Amino acid sequence: MSQKIKMTQRDSQIRKKDFKEVNIGYSKTEMLLEAKRCLQCKVPMCIKGCPVEIYIPGFIECLLEDKPKDALKILNQKTSLPAVCGRVCPQENQCEKNCILGMKGECVSIGNLERYAADATANSEDENIYVEKNGIKIAIIGSGPAGLTCGGDLLKQGYNVTVFESLHDTGGVLRYGIPEFRLPKKVLDVEINKLKKLGMKLVLNTLIGRTKTIQDLFDEGFKAVFVAVGAGLPTFPNIPGENLNNIYCSNEFLVRVNLMRSYDFPNYDTPVYRGNNVVIVGGGNTAMDSARTALRLGAESVKLVYRRSENEMPARLEERIHAKEEGIEFATLTNPVKFIGDKNGFVKAVECVKMELGDPDESGRRIPKIVENSNYIIETDMVILALGLNPNPILPSLTDNLEVDSKGHILVDKNYMTSVPGVFAGGDIVVGDTVISAMGMGKQAAKSIMRYLTNN
Ligand code: FAD
Repeated sequence: MSQKIKMTQRDSQIRKKDFKEVNIGYSKTEMLLEAKRCLQCKVPMCIKGCPVEIYIPGFIECLLEDKPKDALKILNQKTSLPAVCGRVCPQENQCEKNCILGMKGECVSIGNLERYAADATANSEDENIYVEKNGIKIAIIGSGPAGLTCGGDLLKQGYNVTVFESLHDTGGVLRYGIPEFRLPKKVLDVEINKLKKLGMKLVLNTLIGRTKTIQDLFDEGFKAVFVAVGAGLPTFPNIPGENLNNIYCSNEFLVRVNLMRSYDFPNYDTPVYRGNNVVIVGGGNTAMDSARTALRLGAESVKLVYRRSENEMPARLEERIHAKEEGIEFATLTNPVKFIGDKNGFVKAVECVKMELGDPDESGRRIPKIVENSNYIIETDMVILALGLNPNPILPSLTDNLEVDSKGHILVDKNYMTSVPGVFAGGDIVVGDTVISAMGMGKQAAKSIMRYLTNN
């Protein structure tokens, strides 16, 4: 049974000191060897594992024939962001998990091949760029993967699409959350520029709800609205000391570094504290990105505190491996109970307890329980809390009749229509926590919007 062609990575001891991309990408020879491994199954199970149902054997076959442009055409039938998905999708739980080769040995590296197809064609012009316009205006709120995907699909059908974004730049979490060493901004720019060339209008620095309301958009002649505002509200542990200085929430920390370029202060205006002994609380992608970013800002030690075991960590396997290679320490089955400050109000230690796993909850995950009298102290000068993100209530609270659930997620029907006629929603503001699930919802919503506008 053939083995997967591993993607070359930069040396961990060098890369941990800079923000350049960790994975190098396949060479043409490596791509051909990997593409050859695909069995071209008659009933391709991999497609079933992909939330946007990319015709995976088809694009791999084009690569094998050394036709990356044709491969891209197949990818573009289902995704506007292949270079992004090839880099950050949790393929091990999706398409690659279903690969028949993986049942007995190693699955095909579908994500790496997708990345190759996108990167190899990054500088080529899109051949079918002209689409006849139908004059119907659609507003998209939020320029993350859900909004860009929905907008991209509508553009390709001739709609006039305007995306409103509250920040001064586009991409949502892809730009302000996921760091450069995993997803270079220039890769994201290539994909967003293709959408701009298709005619996507991007209106930045506009917080819908406050700058203008959804009703204002309808009054301006937009015939439907897609709400894709993500979930950017941090969760706090609710324990003593959490308001001490140098305790950041992951979103603030990552936004400062990724979007505001605080790593280059004072050339850029926004500062960020550079911790020496940093403690990260959490076990998801956000925790891993915060830990590896703190390391790159010069930390001597970075310790990740997580209340379950590594098996339960939601972060992608590749990110966990990379983090460990770079020297991030994992303190699993550990939970903070108190943050301790110095006399000036700066954090100087975290009091933790050891945990053990008990019986599974309804979702099947084993519930962590405190081990009695196991308290101990970790000294630190900076803590980053990465405990999950919730929907931001601004837009729903300022939109009449827009219904949300108890956690603030916007409620939608099977067509992604909200309780307000003509207003659709998708992505993390509805449910989910991956780029590809946000994109999947964006695609479905685009179809529903077209049906709604044509009464089909
Ligand atoms: P977002 O990407 O959050 O975009 C929403 C956009 O809406 C933002 O730009 C925001 O500024 C804007 N907005 C908000 N409110 C308003 C308003 N009122 N008016 C106008 N604009 C507004 N997923 C993966 O699959 N793989 C990963 O490796 C991965 N890593 C991650 C790392 C981090 C640090 C984080 C935070 C998340 C990660 N995720 C990852 C999850 C993934 O990024 C999200 O699921 C996805 O970005 C959600 O897409 P979205 O379009 O719904 O929202």
